[in-house]
Amino acid sequence: MDIMGALAVASQSIKLAKDLRELERELDSAGYKAKMAELYGNLADIKIALSDAKEALHEKDGEIKKLTAEIIALKSGETCPLCQSGNLKVTSIKPHPIFGVMGQKEHTLTCQNGECGHRETRLVIPAER
Ligand SMILES: [Zn+2]
Repeated sequence: MDIMGALAVASQSIKLAKDLRELERELDSAGYKAKMAELYGNLADIKIALSDAKEALHEKDGEIKKLTAEIIALKSGETCPLCQSGNLKVTSIKPHPIFGVMGQKEHTLTCQNGECGHRETRLVIPAER
C-alpha cells in the first residue's frame, strides 16, 4: 500500500469509528463487532503502509546523500570559461611541441559539458626533481 492508499484507508477508518459510536448507542452487538474487526484490519494496513513509507524515505535520504556527494565532486575542479557549467578535465598529456625537449608538457583540457566541447591546451612545467 502506498501513502495515498494509506490515507484513503485512514479516512475510511475514521468513518468506521464514527459508525461504531452510533452503533454503541443502539447496542447492535453483531454490527458493532463487524465494524470493530474492519477497523482493526484497517489500522493494521495503515501501520504497514507507514512503515513501508518510512523505509522508502530512508532509501531516498541515502540516495540524496549519494547524489549530493556526486554533485559536489563534479562541481569541484576548474569550471569551463565558455559555458560556465562543465568541468575542465585533462584529456591528453604530451611533450610540449617547443619546450618538450626541456621536459615540459602540453596538457589538453576538454570541457565535460557535451553541448560545449571546449578544448584548450596548456604548457605545464613539471615540478623540479
Ligand atoms: Zn564548456
